[in-house]
Amino acid sequence: MKIKNLLKELDFMAECRKYGLGFWQCPNSLFLVMGIIIIFTMILTYYVGIHLVDPEVVIAMVSIVTIVLLVIGHSVVNSFSRVVEANRMKSEFVSIVSHQLRTPLSALKWSLDLLRSERLGQINVKQKEYLDIINDSGVKMIRLVNDLLNVNRIEEGRFEMQPKFFVLNDVIQNTIDELKVMAKAQNINLIFENNGKYEVFADQEKIRMVVQNLIDNAIKYSKKEGGEVRISLKSIEKGRMVKVNVKDNGIGISDLVKKQVFGKFFRGDNLIKQKVEGTGLGLFIAKGIIKLSGGDMGFESVENIGSDFWFTLPLPEKK
Ligand code: ADP
Repeated sequence: MKIKNLLKELDFMAECRKYGLGFWQCPNSLFLVMGIIIIFTMILTYYVGIHLVDPEVVIAMVSIVTIVLLVIGHSVVNSFSRVVEANRMKSEFVSIVSHQLRTPLSALKWSLDLLRSERLGQINVKQKEYLDIINDSGVKMIRLVNDLLNVNRIEEGRFEMQPKFFVLNDVIQNTIDELKVMAKAQNINLIFENNGKYEVFADQEKIRMVVQNLIDNAIKYSKKEGGEVRISLKSIEKGRMVKVNVKDNGIGISDLVKKQVFGKFFRGDNLIKQKVEGTGLGLFIAKGIIKLSGGDMGFESVENIGSDFWFTLPLPEKK
């Protein structure tokens, strides 16, 4: 498996194909060509230098090679600029589409709520069933659009935080209360080791999103039977930080993909088999929120044994 990964790393053309760039436009292949030219020139200069006494020839040779390297270097810089520009355009596209989708989706949700409230007239059971299905899909679309907008805000550094003092224990308890029904439906035991009382200065709603994401994931990626999710908090770093752990005994994460877990749109391939819904944006947003709040986020996980996701937040100094 390790050799397979190494070969994958060495297949630089795969990267070029991924970016849709040809051999002479791709930074990876151009770097390789540059490297070969440099090594070749060094060896050639050495031999020419010791066999030819004429320094002008050596100078001319080195000058020609320098010009060639400058041209290649220029192409590398151009290719990088194109990749960066394409990335910027992609983000802009996602942002525009998400913004444009928000208004019609809100109108859809508003109209549906009105119909379902029966203020415009009675609806029968069958009609209600279908309106509920449309409503569920609408809620999912609104969530996705909001996630995409949040990703965009985090990437562009304009994710606004509105910090205030609040008790972290209460936010965790409320989130657990909200998710209890979902956990129970899947036969999963939610345990909160509510020790101590930790008041933090952060954006309460966004921290609630983080806690919800971690517990939601722990439930989603748990074992079907005998699942257990244990949430705990404690102070660390001599009381300067509080650490929250969300530990499950679920499917875990394989070593091969651990590095990608906090990346955008990452979804473990073992989930495809299990048909668990998700977008792969939750942890990217959660880590962004925690970093902006002055904390950090990470996890330990063993495949088929379970995962332990954690985040830290600074504790205000005691006067
Ligand atoms: P989503 O849950 O929508 O796919 P996330 O960003 O929240 O997106 O999680 C990204 C991926 O990380 C998940 O698709 C899953 O593969 C993995 N993951 C997250 N939490 C857990 C967990 N508690 N146990 C196992 N895998 C997890």
